[in-house]
Amino acid sequence: MKSATGKKVLVSGASIAGLSTAYWLNKLGYYVTVVELANEPRLGGAAINVQGEALASAKRMGIFEQLKASRLQLERLEFKNADDVTEGSMVLQDEEALLSNDIEDIEIERDKLVPILVDALRNEVDFLFHDRITALRETADAIQVTFDHEAPNDFHLVFGCDGAHSGVRKLWFDNEPEYVRFLEHYFSLTIVNTSLIEENTAQLYNVPGKGIMLNAYNGKSDIIFWFFSEKEISYDYRDAEQHRKMIVEQFAGQGWRTAELLEEVKQAKISYFDKFCQVRMPSWTKGRVALVGDAGYCASPAAGVGASLAMTGAAAVAEALEKHDGNFGLAFQTYNQKLRPFIEEVQANALTMLSDYFVPKTEEAIHARNTQGIPF
Ligand SMILES: Cc1cc2nc3c(=O)[nH]c(=O)nc-3n(C[C@H](O)[C@H](O)[C@H](O)COP(=O)(O)OP(=O)(O)OC[C@H]3O[C@@H](n4cnc5c(N)ncnc54)[C@H](O)[C@@H]3O)c2cc1C
Repeated sequence: MKSATGKKVLVSGASIAGLSTAYWLNKLGYYVTVVELANEPRLGGAAINVQGEALASAKRMGIFEQLKASRLQLERLEFKNADDVTEGSMVLQDEEALLSNDIEDIEIERDKLVPILVDALRNEVDFLFHDRITALRETADAIQVTFDHEAPNDFHLVFGCDGAHSGVRKLWFDNEPEYVRFLEHYFSLTIVNTSLIEENTAQLYNVPGKGIMLNAYNGKSDIIFWFFSEKEISYDYRDAEQHRKMIVEQFAGQGWRTAELLEEVKQAKISYFDKFCQVRMPSWTKGRVALVGDAGYCASPAAGVGASLAMTGAAAVAEALEKHDGNFGLAFQTYNQKLRPFIEEVQANALTMLSDYFVPKTEEAIHARNTQGIPF
């Protein structure tokens, strides 16, 4: 990549999109500051899949071997009925795929990927933790940023990498609420430090409009609850106790291992709870601001590729800046045009995955999924 431009840029959000964007912008020679709401990069979350362009970009970042060393070996997914009988199963990765050097995708704990990305920055960017952007104002030659805590500052460009509920998107883009499409489902993840099923396997149990999934790896288990709700539920996203209550109310009295899993959820901390939504915008850029990752094009957890989209988007916006020699107007046009077909395909696929495979609405559809499997 190119020599230093010496220009200061700001990245909002220190997760997959923000850390990857910071990496590439630093390589292009920008002075990068990352502002993050939390006190440190946030860990937790279900295993993440790095595939396609994201894997190619991981290789260029020099982190592929680290990802490979932490690769999860998920082998089998079983579909359970209310009596814990396996109605169908599918192989996720056979022995040949696990031993092959020709790796097409890497499943890795979010807890492992985030520190690898932080490490790749090698102290070359500045972090402002426990802070956020409160106002943006563009002038002829800069964008003025006001923070909650830090003194105001001017930057050449701002990158909103602050997730599906992006603060930058809300502050800067007109008609913002129109871009977030509620997908009528909710998602909760609890991670427990014990194997609730055989290691390196997953199990899925459904009743119409609800689903429970278990994934076991590295001595831990993800307990995932999904449920359908036509109307949006109003809740406090910071109140884990409220999330727990919602899950217990939704799933009490269901079959399979539901009672035991709800007990686990009551004892543990719900590490992630959110509505399923997609962010669909006509443009991910405006003036000197660009959105990357979930902030611009969240496809929902049903896509299973949120991390890959974030890493792919980060590389794409940097490549566009390099191609246009820092002319951000042209670069942002290229970023919008080049990435859009891929994003649209992933978002459409996520809708099918959610309704037909993860949370089918009828007993017939559940039976069909159990016997035919999921076309991952
Ligand atoms: C703790 C955590 C757990 C997750 N668990 C799951 C999971 O189990 N399943 C799943 O499908 N997806 C999960 N995700 C989302 C998943 O990481 C993303 O879909 C995907 O990796 C794309 O990443 P992203 O960087 O675009 O967004 P995110 O990973 O959501 O990161 C956004 C970052 O921006 C920060 N932020 C938010 N608002 C502001 C603000 N106003 N100013 C500054 N910083 C801000 C957040 O703290 C976070 O670090 C989780 C995200 C987090 C943060």
